[in-house]
Amino acid sequence: MPELPEVETSRRGIEPHLKNRTITGIKVRQHKLRWPIPKNLPALVCNKKIRQVGRRAKYINLQLDNGNIIIHLGMSGSLRICRKDTPAEKHDHIDFVMSNQKVLRLRDPRKFGCVLWTDKPLDEHKLIKSLGPEPLGDDFDTDYLYNRTRKRSCSIKSLIMNSHIVVGVGNIYASESLFKAGINPKRKAGSISKARIEKLVDAIKQTLSDAIRQGGTTLRDFTSESGKPGYFAQELQVYGRAGEPCPVCGNPVKQITQQQRSTYYCSKCQR
Ligand SMILES: [Zn+2]
Repeated sequence: MPELPEVETSRRGIEPHLKNRTITGIKVRQHKLRWPIPKNLPALVCNKKIRQVGRRAKYINLQLDNGNIIIHLGMSGSLRICRKDTPAEKHDHIDFVMSNQKVLRLRDPRKFGCVLWTDKPLDEHKLIKSLGPEPLGDDFDTDYLYNRTRKRSCSIKSLIMNSHIVVGVGNIYASESLFKAGINPKRKAGSISKARIEKLVDAIKQTLSDAIRQGGTTLRDFTSESGKPGYFAQELQVYGRAGEPCPVCGNPVKQITQQQRSTYYCSKCQR
């Protein structure tokens, strides 16, 4: 599933081909994604210029003068830029044709992604307005997370994966960040000192920035005609390494289940 770093990498990959270009047409081959593609989308966006290619959480938005196209990649979606005459393949559901004869193409085999429209500011959209801050933004800092953890008895792992607290900390990144910060994923959120919360905030920012940096080098070609932008396998310290020696102390990495998701951690290094 594309996580925040992959979505940000996609955004950076497509932006230079779209910004300040005019959308000249839309070709919809499959209307039924997670939600139906709005029937009036072509009328709303054709002959409009893309002012910005933004991202909020895992939503990419193409900002036009009259509103925003919102794109989510769901479980299996990917975006690429190709020439207008490149034949579409089976799961290529929608093309945005640009004034430079290029096409932004959404491929989504499992069809859990979406393409939506809003004429309001992006932050007022119902899917977005209740989301927590961006993990790499200045609003997500020690004071913020410390205050949000107080009196919370849920595990710290489930708290940082809650998109109302902070967006984009997926299962892999939660395990990796808690390892970096030396915090046991089962620990009650409200019992963690401010100094350790500071470490955790730094670890989350570092883990996600590293993933984006790595994505930028792995997924460098968004215009490849073969067009299979794979998601990148990051170098992970504990995630998926049950039984292997902890890279810090050598103790075997443990695997447990929390909220039906696998957690990996070192019981010696993480308290
Ligand atoms: Zn260890």
